[in-house]
Amino acid sequence: MTFAATILTLYPEMFPGPLGVSLAGRALEQGKWSCDPVQVRDFATDKHRTVDDTPAGGGAGMVLKVDVLAAAVDHALAQQPDCPVLAMTPRGVPLTQERIRALAAGPGVTILCGRFEGFDERIFETRPVEQVSLGDIVLSGGEPAALALLDACIRLLPGVMGAASSGAEESFEEGLLEYPHYTRPNEWEGRTIPEVLRSGDHAKIAAWRKQRSEEDTRLRRPDLWERYGNARGRPASGAQREMKEPDQ
Ligand code: SAH
Repeated sequence: MTFAATILTLYPEMFPGPLGVSLAGRALEQGKWSCDPVQVRDFATDKHRTVDDTPAGGGAGMVLKVDVLAAAVDHALAQQPDCPVLAMTPRGVPLTQERIRALAAGPGVTILCGRFEGFDERIFETRPVEQVSLGDIVLSGGEPAALALLDACIRLLPGVMGAASSGAEESFEEGLLEYPHYTRPNEWEGRTIPEVLRSGDHAKIAAWRKQRSEEDTRLRRPDLWERYGNARGRPASGAQREMKEPDQ
């Protein structure tokens, strides 16, 4: 099955862009996903092909016109009726690996990319468009966010990643950050790889990795750590207070 990516954008030449090389590029060649950038400007109706106008109420910048956006979304829905439509906006729900997994398991995704100040709000009131965000940062356009979202989906498609298991242990999959990695040389600038990783004792290695996963999540991402604890029915904050320093 081909994962159908449709991107509604003022800059279709940005696609597949970086997704045309490496893992995603190979998957595109193999037909594991398809990339269909659609020029939003083609849905403008006046002779100047206007896509934006000044914000109601005043202020800086321009706003994408709802009639043009709706025509583009309707076109995508007619082409790909089973694909969810996601609009990229800092006002949206932050994307999670869980959401990415759900999208990757489906038929594809249609992504509406903003520019300027963003969208006329009525597009969300009148069309089945879900607002999602890449995080608490402000980009100049939705395209880099769309590329990031697609990259995250594509690597999960069947047969795209090398080792079949390499998705399972990653950051967020268990509600934790992944443990740190090391590779040869064993000693570099006076620092060695933790002894346990070279012990060959798989149970000890697994225990070390789990401990580092939990500790790093607790220190770096208290929000994830809290959720992880709650999901296990115990408060996360006190659970690892006695944790000893990881083996070095
Ligand atoms: N005025 C808007 C920002 C507009 S940035 C605000 O303050 O909320 C222009 C476009 O870039 C947006 O319409 C959106 O499509 C995209 N964009 C910017 N930041 C983003 C983010 N964190 N996630 C997803 N898309 C983003």
